[in-house]
Amino acid sequence: MEIHFTHSESVVFEKISQVAANLNMPCYLIGGFVRDKIIGRPVKDADIVCIGDGIALANAYADSLHPRPTVAFFKNFGTAQIKLPDLEIEFVGARKESYHQHSRKPDVEVGTIEDDQNRRDFTINALAVSLNPEDYGTLVDPFGGQKAIQDKVIVTPLEPVRTFSDDPLRMLRAIRFATQLGFKIEAGTFAAIGQNVHRMKIVSQERITDELNKIMLCPKPSVGWDLLYQSGLLKQIFPQMVDLHGAVYIDGKGHKDNFYHTLQVLDNIAEHTDSLWLRWAALLHDIGKPATKKFEEGHGWTFHGHEVVGARMVPKIFARLKLPLHDPMKYVQKLVLLHLRPISLTKENITDSAVRRLIFDAGDDIDDLMTLCAADITSKNKLKVKRFLQNFEMVKERMQVVEASDRIRNWQPPITGELVMETFGLTPGRNVGVIKDAIREAILDGIIPNQYEAAYRFMLEKAAELGLKPVK
Ligand code: ATP
Repeated sequence: MEIHFTHSESVVFEKISQVAANLNMPCYLIGGFVRDKIIGRPVKDADIVCIGDGIALANAYADSLHPRPTVAFFKNFGTAQIKLPDLEIEFVGARKESYHQHSRKPDVEVGTIEDDQNRRDFTINALAVSLNPEDYGTLVDPFGGQKAIQDKVIVTPLEPVRTFSDDPLRMLRAIRFATQLGFKIEAGTFAAIGQNVHRMKIVSQERITDELNKIMLCPKPSVGWDLLYQSGLLKQIFPQMVDLHGAVYIDGKGHKDNFYHTLQVLDNIAEHTDSLWLRWAALLHDIGKPATKKFEEGHGWTFHGHEVVGARMVPKIFARLKLPLHDPMKYVQKLVLLHLRPISLTKENITDSAVRRLIFDAGDDIDDLMTLCAADITSKNKLKVKRFLQNFEMVKERMQVVEASDRIRNWQPPITGELVMETFGLTPGRNVGVIKDAIREAILDGIIPNQYEAAYRFMLEKAAELGLKPVK
């Protein structure tokens, strides 16, 4: 098997090969770079493992280049990194690892190339390519990684229960690679994940969430979330998602399985956006359903207020998952809260004031809300979906007309709190808010036009009702 390097990669690797030979230091390309080259995925970083001091090799390689690139090194880990224009190269000495029960950080000692391949998580990640002059370019594949790539299988090189117990993050990596690459997890490897769910407690939340975000950014994120559920990991790391699972039947009436509905919505939205946070909004849009589920006699299952309850759950979920708590959280929360609004518009007469109010509440996120809402239409009944989407298009058209005439998006009402206080000689207090809100509502409802004079007159009327007179 020949690995095909681009011209610029060849220049880099041949030079490293020469420099390493001068130092009498065998070295190999290893891991993700080799895997992705065989699969034909784009690569942007390359790991080089050498039998010796990785930092010394990196420095010697840098010395051979003009101008000399910077070598960033991490003495504690014995690794060094050089950033070339289109390739980031990491150098490290081969090592052997041994793990302890209470940490995923192993004891490390100097090892051979075999030791280094043994410590890799999956056979597809344990492939090496020799950079040594005597067999330059030869694939070193002790675990059948190449075949695993052909068969699209994720399997651990050594015994899986031990592999996952040693470093439980590998369980999430297995699921993430399966989702990213469209590979299957081999049955024994998958069963071993089930046996090690409890070990997740030694993995930091940041690492867990990093993997979840990588799953979220895959073309079909549902694959990863379903594997998380099937393996039992989801219950451990994100129990609120598991609560969505299942359908209860009473009097022969069931509701849809909200877990799989959510995953469908997530895949739908993934076809229309690469935005991580819009994808998170899709994942969380129905998270309030289990808490609001009721069976109403003669009516069936209802989830009244699930959007409000769901929006309230968002900050807690973001905190637990250590997702950023400010902007993205507020954005996701807003979309969860509003996710029913565009659809409910299609069920009634679409009035301009309802449209205006929706645009005002969503502001700049209105387009994302519409994308979420379209993704949320998942009925199996094709006619129903078609009808919904048609109505939905009507709402969109109406929105364009209203926005063109009223400019409600990012709109600030023409009367400010300062002007109210100045006009009536008020200090900040309840009446200022009452007057301001009344003006805003009147404009949104189309009672008065969105203009200063009309709003000013309306302010005088409202204030008079409260017994207030202008001071001048
Ligand atoms: P990606 O860049 O898409 O995350 P990658 O395989 O390059 O893929 P890295 O996290 O950069 O992933 O890891 C580089 C290599 O180090 C892997 O290919 C694998 O051989 C090894 N590796 C990384 N993490 C682990 C781990 N937790 N256990 C064992 N081996 C690992």
